[in-house]
Amino acid sequence: MSTKRDYYEILGVKKSATLDEIKKAYRELALKHHPDRVPHEQKKEAEEKFKEISEAYAVLSDTSKRALYDQYGHSGIDQKYAYEDIFKGADFSSVFEGMSDFGLGGGLFDEIFSDLGYNIFGSRGRGRQAQASRKGRDLEISVDVALEEAASGIEKTVTVPRYETCGVCAGSGAKPGTKKITCPQCKGSGRTVVSSGFFQLAQTCSRCRGQGAIIQTPCSACGGEGRSKVTRKIKVKVPAGVDTGSTLRIRGEGESGMSARGDLYVVIEVRQHPVFQRHNNDLLTEINISMAKAILGSEIEVPTIDGKVTMKVPAGTQSGKVFRLREKGMPDLRGRSNGDELVRVNVEIPSRLNSEQRRLIEEFARASGEDVNKEGFTDKIKRAFK
Ligand SMILES: [Zn+2]
Ligand SMILES: [Zn+2]
Repeated sequence: MSTKRDYYEILGVKKSATLDEIKKAYRELALKHHPDRVPHEQKKEAEEKFKEISEAYAVLSDTSKRALYDQYGHSGIDQKYAYEDIFKGADFSSVFEGMSDFGLGGGLFDEIFSDLGYNIFGSRGRGRQAQASRKGRDLEISVDVALEEAASGIEKTVTVPRYETCGVCAGSGAKPGTKKITCPQCKGSGRTVVSSGFFQLAQTCSRCRGQGAIIQTPCSACGGEGRSKVTRKIKVKVPAGVDTGSTLRIRGEGESGMSARGDLYVVIEVRQHPVFQRHNNDLLTEINISMAKAILGSEIEVPTIDGKVTMKVPAGTQSGKVFRLREKGMPDLRGRSNGDELVRVNVEIPSRLNSEQRRLIEEFARASGEDVNKEGFTDKIKRAFK
């Protein structure tokens, strides 16, 4: 009998470790010792290491096995469970959950456990089960909308190229009317037994990749792939209030998987607007008004995202003054009140005057106690140098 290392020591966790800590430790070690991530000559060693950490995880992640181990050590486990049974019921899949985004999800998990050999997971091929629960890939697409469309909400049709289950062979890859035949290499078991030093390792059959059957006559529509690339038009409801970077998730519109489809993520891009600048839910616009209107006060027409409104400009309005039109901005995506519209008023000084206008402005100046016509700045200079 070889002396086994302590399970806690193998995973590098304390005796008081929580399930989460055990999972985390196992995940890190599993990624580090993945047999595919080490040089070829270390592969056998990595496999052994892998079996060791997986066994430690299988025991410590299971409440009753862990209690047994804590009380009686390895002999407690070895007396009650055959080696294969140690792994039964262990939750390996949640360890790698959420890692699919980084391309380390199901694929890696399958690889790890097909390298380990099916025997530890009982008679059914683990690889096949893992594949059956595999979800299709998520897709991402970007959609341009005008500011008005972002304000009102709109339905857009997007074109999505994606892989779908082949309709001709229903995903089997075999030509309709023909059947898959039992894999001659593994006789349908999906695994082949390889001697690996001390252990007998059952590995995934390389011919059928664990399926137990092979396609003799491939489907002509998909070439035996079981899926084909198609272009779909999908309607997307863009809700009012979206901004650049808003992402909509449409469940089940990604690629076909072995069981469930992946999701489609639609990333919104709101185009620049010639009149409005957006700051979160507020809209900013500028408007020019005449000098007379600014001085005397007036009602002016102002554009908003949903049509023109009348805005009162009080007498004596200075150029650059910003008026706030409450809730005339963008709707809020989460249903809170709308943003505001900010209207910046620029007072236009006429660059050219006709004689009547000139006379009146001069009169205005005189009434204000100025004498602009008789002696401007240049006149003063001329006089000084006479
Ligand atoms: Zn097909
Ligand atoms: Zn086979």
